[in-house]
Amino acid sequence: MQGLMMDAPLLTSTILDHAERWHGEQKIVSRLHDGSIHSYTYSDAHTRTKKMAAALTALGVEQGDRVGTLAWNNFRHFELYFAISGMGAVTHTINPRLFEEQVTYIINHASNKVLFVDLSFVGLVEKVIGNCPKVEKIIVLCEQNEMPTDSPIADLICYEALIAAQTGDYVWPEFEERTAAALCYTSGTTGNPKGVLYSHRSTVLQTMATVAPDVLNISACDSLLPIVPMYHVNAWCQPFAAALVGAKLVLPGGGMDAASIYELMETEGVTLSAGVPTIWLMLLRYLAENNSKLTTVSRVSVGGSACPLSIIRDFDTKYGVNVIQAWGMTETSPLGTVVAPKPEHAKLDAETRYQVQSTQGRPVFGVDIRIVDDNGTELARDGVMSGHLQVRGYWVCSEYFNVDMDSPLENGWFPTGDIASISTSGFLRITDRAKDLIKSGGEWISSIELENAATSLAGVTEAAVIGVSHPRWDERPLMLIIANDSTLSKHDILAHLQDKFAKWWLPEDVLFVDDIPHTATGKISKLNLRQQYQDHFMQNNNEESTCA
Ligand code: AMP
Repeated sequence: MQGLMMDAPLLTSTILDHAERWHGEQKIVSRLHDGSIHSYTYSDAHTRTKKMAAALTALGVEQGDRVGTLAWNNFRHFELYFAISGMGAVTHTINPRLFEEQVTYIINHASNKVLFVDLSFVGLVEKVIGNCPKVEKIIVLCEQNEMPTDSPIADLICYEALIAAQTGDYVWPEFEERTAAALCYTSGTTGNPKGVLYSHRSTVLQTMATVAPDVLNISACDSLLPIVPMYHVNAWCQPFAAALVGAKLVLPGGGMDAASIYELMETEGVTLSAGVPTIWLMLLRYLAENNSKLTTVSRVSVGGSACPLSIIRDFDTKYGVNVIQAWGMTETSPLGTVVAPKPEHAKLDAETRYQVQSTQGRPVFGVDIRIVDDNGTELARDGVMSGHLQVRGYWVCSEYFNVDMDSPLENGWFPTGDIASISTSGFLRITDRAKDLIKSGGEWISSIELENAATSLAGVTEAAVIGVSHPRWDERPLMLIIANDSTLSKHDILAHLQDKFAKWWLPEDVLFVDDIPHTATGKISKLNLRQQYQDHFMQNNNEESTCA
């Protein structure tokens, strides 16, 4: 027997409609590329978003088309999130931190015909566009008088001119909630970046979960500053979450330096912010150096990499700010687990509480996790056994977009590539990574590509690259070399690598060793190496990072 309740699809456009109707007066504040502040309301955003949806239709964008965006966190990008998905197309957010070849690959793989680009990324588009034959229209997110005049791309279109040409009487189409809404490529995988295709249903469900008390507890009384970029996994769904509850939304633009972030926090009364550990390390250092206080921020959410205990402790003891650690992936939209205290944690002393906060937390409703051994057998949740972390749920990827490969699922579970334990009370602790990748300042570096490049140098017999904790970038690559030429130096290795990779990919240090341990199957035993060198950058804290 069917239930007798109304049935309406979960669509992203309904979130913005709700925002306009019930908290239309709430503010969205953005820092623009010239440092100035733009402020308007959800009601204004709603009107302009509908105009943009109509403009997309006029540009020839059809339902299902992937529309690319290369943009910071700003109000126009916010409008695009809703306009593109709302009209039935797919918001394809492109990470400008990737190599030009990867950006080119992604634009082509997604078959982007239309690209929306911040002024600061026009230069990047100029470099790649010659290799992106499918792109027909490029729209610059700016006013008419800010349009580039010297670009080799002849027919750039102005975002504001598109809006101005529309009346705003656009009516959102209604369609099936499993329709694709957004596309984000992950480079946290071997081989080419892979596209994760979010649906309207997965996005709306995750947004509803995000605002819940045991997740980020976001309400209309919050002023929310997502520092996590909008080109990365829907900015952890925060633009949608703010619109859903009517929180003030503060968008930092490209101003990701500590002084700009601090200023926005204070002037806009920010209560909650979200970012990777590198951002918080940078802000804490700034606060200490300038003897500044946070007068309104009460909590910060941290994810993307393990949060060092020092961040949790410093925020609490020096600034009275609660750190909420979360774990997730591009493939999990990204919300997976969050540190949400249970009743037994109320009486804990501060240091023990920090230990709980330094775990990756427990699953939110909508996501389930388990750990398995090498044969796929589930392991006990005893806080001791550690195994491959698998995940499944309403907003977890079932397959990658348009790739010629089998579904990544194993018995219905998504293999995360993380190694973890789960405590008896359900708290996840990531202990290692099975995927051969390094996450530096929130972005992925492939160990294998660095190793292959190093061994192509005469005199190098074997190379191993591991991620090692770093006080500023969370993790940096350390390269170990076995050489058969005793004259080879660190400088030679770095010189050989530097024209092949971006500067931030280069090993932070190169060590020459006599032996590199291998597993029984002949693979380099990275686990052993990571344990052996875990304190390398903590002991050799070099401010002159190759990453800077
Ligand atoms: P991405 O898809 O780029 O967001 O990366 C997802 C990966 O980042 C996960 O599989 C983990 O390896 C890592 N990660 C994310 N959040 C955390 C966290 N809180 N602690 C440790 N690792 C994390």
